[in-house]
Amino acid sequence: MKRKLSNQFFRNFLVIFLLTILATVFAFVLLSFASNLISGSLAKSRYPASAIIKEDYKEIDATAVVQSGGGVQVVDKEYRVVYSQGLDTIGKDKLTAEEFTTFLTESKSKAYHYDILYQPKGEFWLIVTFPTSIRLDFSLVHNKEASAGDFRRAGGVIAFVMLSYLSIIALFAFIYSRITAASIIIPLRKLSDGTKLLREGDYSARVDLRLKNEFAELQDTFNDMAARIEHEISLRKKSEEDRRGLILDISHDLKNPMSSIQGYAELLMEKKGITEQERKEYLEIILNNSKRANQLLTELFELSQIDSPEFSLKLVKTDICEYIRQICGELVPQLEREGFKYEFDISEERVFVMLDTNRFSRIIQNLANNAMQYNPEGTLVTLKLTVQNQQVVIEFSDNGIGIPEHLADSIFKPFVRGDDSRNSKTGGSGLGLYIAKKIAEAHGGDLILCPNENKGSSFRITIPAI
Ligand code: ADP
Repeated sequence: MKRKLSNQFFRNFLVIFLLTILATVFAFVLLSFASNLISGSLAKSRYPASAIIKEDYKEIDATAVVQSGGGVQVVDKEYRVVYSQGLDTIGKDKLTAEEFTTFLTESKSKAYHYDILYQPKGEFWLIVTFPTSIRLDFSLVHNKEASAGDFRRAGGVIAFVMLSYLSIIALFAFIYSRITAASIIIPLRKLSDGTKLLREGDYSARVDLRLKNEFAELQDTFNDMAARIEHEISLRKKSEEDRRGLILDISHDLKNPMSSIQGYAELLMEKKGITEQERKEYLEIILNNSKRANQLLTELFELSQIDSPEFSLKLVKTDICEYIRQICGELVPQLEREGFKYEFDISEERVFVMLDTNRFSRIIQNLANNAMQYNPEGTLVTLKLTVQNQQVVIEFSDNGIGIPEHLADSIFKPFVRGDDSRNSKTGGSGLGLYIAKKIAEAHGGDLILCPNENKGSSFRITIPAI
């Protein structure tokens, strides 16, 4: 990648440099052409020395030259300035032979145009001076009569200069292309390294280019994408772990009742001289364990139904107050039988909600069963229904033993239970609250455990009113 980009840049820059040289030469040619075009109209061309020279310098008419901003001087053979009109760049009346030679040789380089003509009869030099507007001297001069050796030498020097010039341009193009390519290659390489890390499974890979251009945008997109992938992967790992844990829990929970059933059934078949009392005892154990296994399987079936994407509720517009009053009525005989006290506080209003009555009753039933299962006789169970901000709030509490603090965050997870002994004959599956919360959520509401400062535990069900 690196070589290809740098070579591409090098070629591009070289072409640009050569085109620039070509354009410069063209500009010079154009300039000289334009200069030739206008030269005829310039004052210096209109009034050359040849146009005003006379045999006797006294007859020279310098008026037009002076009017055009120029000057006329006549220098005789003794280098005296015998005639001067208008602009005077000699500045003396008398020159030495040396000064006059210097004036003649240096006249080309000054910012004046000099037209100098010698009048052999009058034996004087006529000098016509005009200030130069702008002059650009660039010309290639050659003479065929020069010796072949001179031509070779001069040609060699020119070729050497051209070659050195082109080499320097090539070198500059090379350096420049490297610098420019580096500004693209370095961030590209960092991004490419980051991508490779991702491909190899390192989802924590991030790129820091310390740039503020388009690459920074690409970097942000890359980092964002990496973060999302990392998040997704961690979720997938977590759900994979949960799934494995769930299978472990299920098999563990089913194993105990099943082995117990198997053990006692074998005992019944093989034990000789078994008394009626023993037979009853064994059958009772078998019955309890099969009930337990059956309950677990029923709850597992319910759980898989709720978790399946096809799960949907049969929602019916229901007066929730009336409905909860009915459920409470059904709970009363059970609570009384178990020796629990109760208080129900349900609004007299008619409040409608969309409800799958079969499923929703499962929530209240589960909370009531838990209250009776985990708390001692005489515990007070309360249910209060209110409407707050278009939300129906049902608070279900008891003043019993309460939920251990360390379980408060995980109590709604499957297979989490207060009594962690899986052999416990009294404990449930640990699926009840998980299923109840899922049902509440499917109704657009929630089931939460409220922080309870008093004794006991308190749950809150919410469901949107319509
Ligand atoms: P389980 O089938 O074991 O009852 P749940 O999900 O319904 O499963 O309850 C989880 C755990 O929460 C129970 O094992 C119990 O320890 C605790 N728990 C639930 N409700 C109460 C309550 N009202 N009082 C005390 N502990 C409770």
